[in-house]
Amino acid sequence: MSAASLTALFPPALPALIDSLPAAIILLDSQWRITYANQMARRISRISESDLNSRTLSQIYPDIVGTDLERLYREAVQTNEPRRAPAFFYEPFKTWFDLHLLPTRDGVAVFYTDVTSLHDAEAARVRSNEHLTQVLEAITDAVVVLDRNWTITYLNERARKIVAPSGEVLGTNHWQSFPSSIYEGSPFVANYYPAMERGIPAEFETFYGEPLNIWVQCIVHPDTAGIIVFFRDITARKRADAALIQSEKLAAVGRLASSIAHEINNPLESVTNLLYLARLSVTDPEIQKLLDLADLELRRVSIITNQTLRFHKQSTAARAIGCSDLFGDVLTMYEGKLRNSGITVQKRKRAHLPVVCFEGEIRQVLSNFFGNAIDAMPTGGRLLIRSREGTDWRTGRPGIYLTVADTGTGMDPKILHRVFEAFFTTKGFNGTGLGLWISDEIVRRHNGRILIRTSQNPHLHGTTISLFLPYNCNPIPGDPIPA
Ligand code: ADP
Ligand code: MG
Repeated sequence: MSAASLTALFPPALPALIDSLPAAIILLDSQWRITYANQMARRISRISESDLNSRTLSQIYPDIVGTDLERLYREAVQTNEPRRAPAFFYEPFKTWFDLHLLPTRDGVAVFYTDVTSLHDAEAARVRSNEHLTQVLEAITDAVVVLDRNWTITYLNERARKIVAPSGEVLGTNHWQSFPSSIYEGSPFVANYYPAMERGIPAEFETFYGEPLNIWVQCIVHPDTAGIIVFFRDITARKRADAALIQSEKLAAVGRLASSIAHEINNPLESVTNLLYLARLSVTDPEIQKLLDLADLELRRVSIITNQTLRFHKQSTAARAIGCSDLFGDVLTMYEGKLRNSGITVQKRKRAHLPVVCFEGEIRQVLSNFFGNAIDAMPTGGRLLIRSREGTDWRTGRPGIYLTVADTGTGMDPKILHRVFEAFFTTKGFNGTGLGLWISDEIVRRHNGRILIRTSQNPHLHGTTISLFLPYNCNPIPGDPIPA
């Protein structure tokens, strides 16, 4: 059917109309000859006037032979039913066509459009989606993508582990799959809706599941206008933050305690002296007893302030000192007390090299060990003092071990767990709970370690407490006493 015959059948304006269509149209007869081509077809398929009614399609485009288009053409003719090739690539033109084939009385009408740019855009979209997926898989956060209808369209591997370890949630509705995220004041609800509906990105921290601290960020998906949600497990960081705050608080309390102790010291001395004078001049035994009691209490206050002050004391210079010197002085201090408590002392010295340390501080540590050992043996016992050379098994550094072992009560594991806490004491009014806390601090500054072994076994009870000091421990001095 030629243009002329169309004019005969339809209103005169029709060929012009068909010519101006944005789609290309050609009519083929049963011999594959082109009998009509509208303007768009002539342009995009480069058909000249002389091609019409003379050459077959395969003569003009030899590359079509053997393609899907040829197969569809034959099918349309044989079955007398329309066929479609939505993405037919014609190599010589480097062009993608969307083709409809409609059987006519003696052949086929082909309608087609050049969809190369659409096709390229789609291919680019697929490629960029693949890149996005690669990035989202590689990212250290858990990522969940929701479409406009709250359907979960993507989860990366990490997200599967955190939010959906027990089942498949892909393709399900987010709110139905995670009903626990809907509650009064839920930050999920409060942030996701504005993100989805008004494109407002959000970032918040909250809890999820077994108290897991999570950080959440949601942003609008650039392509789908759904949202992309990033999750990060920040439980460990939160714990570290809390520990840091706690230790800062402790340090501040320490400094405060030290300045209070400093302030208290002078009036304390005055009151002690005044009490002494009062006791001398009082004859009434009742009042004498009360004053004795007051004196006792005051001594306790004095011990506490002295401990606190020594803790923060700026030591002068670290110097090399031998074990005998360290132990000797402390032992002299406790000699009377040991004798009175019925405690026998055994010494075993095996370390000969000196260590560089702040001797006053290390004596204080040993003195705390002695004091505790004596307190643990109210009805007498044995105290073993040992020194030996050795290495810290954690770091391999050589140094000395100074050990104080008693045959006292020993400790319950629950108590052992808390002995380094400030103010932890099992001695009620007779203890301060500062001894081991201070010792631990001092030993840390000497890069050393305190090791405790203890037993409450009725046949073999007691506690062994060792102090390890590396030979070259580079001790850090304590804080200076506040002015
Ligand atoms: P304090 O001696 O003032 O109670 P410490 O910090 O020196 O404070 O000790 C804390 C606690 O550790 C003691 O109250 C005691 O329960 C326990 N402890 C320490 N050393 C020993 C020991 N050698 N034997 C038994 N218990 C001990
Ligand atoms: Mg003590």
